Amino acid sequence: MGFDRNERIGILGAGAAGLSLALRLADSGFRSVTVLERESEPGGKCRTFRAEGGNWELGAVMGTTDYRDTLDLMRRVGLDPWRSYAPDRTPEDAFVGRGFWPCEKLFPGWIGIGELPEGILEILRYHILAPRYRAAFGPNHLGTPGELADSFQAWVDRHRMGVLAKAISIPYTTFGYGYYDESPAAYVLKFFEPGIVRALALQFKFFKWREGVQTLWERLAESLDVRYSLDVREIRRGGTVAVSGRERSSGEPFRFEFDRLVLACPLDDSLGFLDATTEERELYTKIRHKDYRVYLKRARGFRVPAGFAPARFDRSGIGRAMIWDDRVPGSGIHTFYVLGDGKQSDAEIEAGLDEDIRTLGGEPGETVSRVRWKYYPHVTCEDYRAGWYDRFEALQGRIRTYACGEIASFSTVERVIRYSRDLSRRFFE
Ligand SMILES: Cc1cc2nc3c(=O)[nH]c(=O)nc-3n(C[C@H](O)[C@H](O)[C@H](O)COP(=O)(O)OP(=O)(O)OC[C@H]3O[C@@H](n4cnc5c(N)ncnc54)[C@H](O)[C@@H]3O)c2cc1C
Repeated sequence: MGFDRNERIGILGAGAAGLSLALRLADSGFRSVTVLERESEPGGKCRTFRAEGGNWELGAVMGTTDYRDTLDLMRRVGLDPWRSYAPDRTPEDAFVGRGFWPCEKLFPGWIGIGELPEGILEILRYHILAPRYRAAFGPNHLGTPGELADSFQAWVDRHRMGVLAKAISIPYTTFGYGYYDESPAAYVLKFFEPGIVRALALQFKFFKWREGVQTLWERLAESLDVRYSLDVREIRRGGTVAVSGRERSSGEPFRFEFDRLVLACPLDDSLGFLDATTEERELYTKIRHKDYRVYLKRARGFRVPAGFAPARFDRSGIGRAMIWDDRVPGSGIHTFYVLGDGKQSDAEIEAGLDEDIRTLGGEPGETVSRVRWKYYPHVTCEDYRAGWYDRFEALQGRIRTYACGEIASFSTVERVIRYSRDLSRRFFE
């Protein structure tokens, strides 16, 4: 099918999904691609806090050498992966007995030498099983084996993958994706495709963004037509797509007309302004999120500046720090990650952080920044099994509308970029 490159394409949301799609469309020759963003800056959950000559991540933190599409985009704007693994901290074994583990004690330590042979066997068995999950490792959820609609815990029990599950609980549960007994296995496998499992086993394959992850999107956005600070209030679809609302600071009304629209923003929120069909409404109201919070706090004399608390990896840890980091050693500013359930106030959570800092020999100071993310859009095992993704994909292109972003695949930078590339390939190229 031939496409008219003069079509006006509108994309809602200047996060990784929206911007990578806009670039892809521009690369394929589309002349009119406009990205509409609610905030005054690009990046979405790739947000960096900059102060005092340093930068701290409030959203995405790291990638692996398997982040091929992300690395391609980084090369375009001259950003190199930053490999900052050399531990430059003294492990404080004294606190391990109290449940606080320094990051250096991940292995050997929390994962014991005794678990290594079983762990290696499980990784090998996972690679042998991998061909049957090829569809799950792909860019979308189409054709994913029915078995993966079950919870990841059920999958772990079925395939006897206990050590692997323990090892990946740090980047899964503590990174805010929740608990194994509630997550459809399909999401967990999308995250831990074999390449990522290898990267985990061989720690040196990780990288961070030295300049801050948001820099990537700021630089990429420079070559695109991105309109910021727009409060979209109404979308009407017919012969064209009319998007209208008000500019957030001036209150000035705006109106755009497009031939095709891509929703690269939270789909459940879009129900507030979209002339949604019954099917869209039914699907988008089934989307669930996690309440994931990031705090940048000053702490002097903190003796485990980067660590994790395994006792909090289950629901008993809700509202307490599960993992913390010192991205800028010596700055005295530490990043704390907390999975909430929507009920705790920031003051309650920060009181818990202060208590932890004191337990770890430090003196808590001010909170420099905090974010409460509506995180990891996903559907339940029941909705996954009932064919949510088949219905979602069947909507692509209906009434001139498409959707991409985290829900379409999984909540990592690489996954959303890959989905956007796939969407472009399937419907625009
Ligand atoms: C704390 C944290 C840690 C993470 N760590 C990692 C990590 O280490 N590695 C990794 O790969 N991933 C990580 N992620 C996940 C990754 O950041 C996200 O999955 C990815 O950035 C999502 O991109 P997106 O474009 O789909 O969505 P978003 O980033 O949410 O972008 C959506 C955009 O739409 C805009 N928007 C919303 N509503 C509207 C509207 N009505 N009109 C216009 N615009 C609108 C938003 O402002 C936003 O800019 C992390 C995320 C968080 C929060």
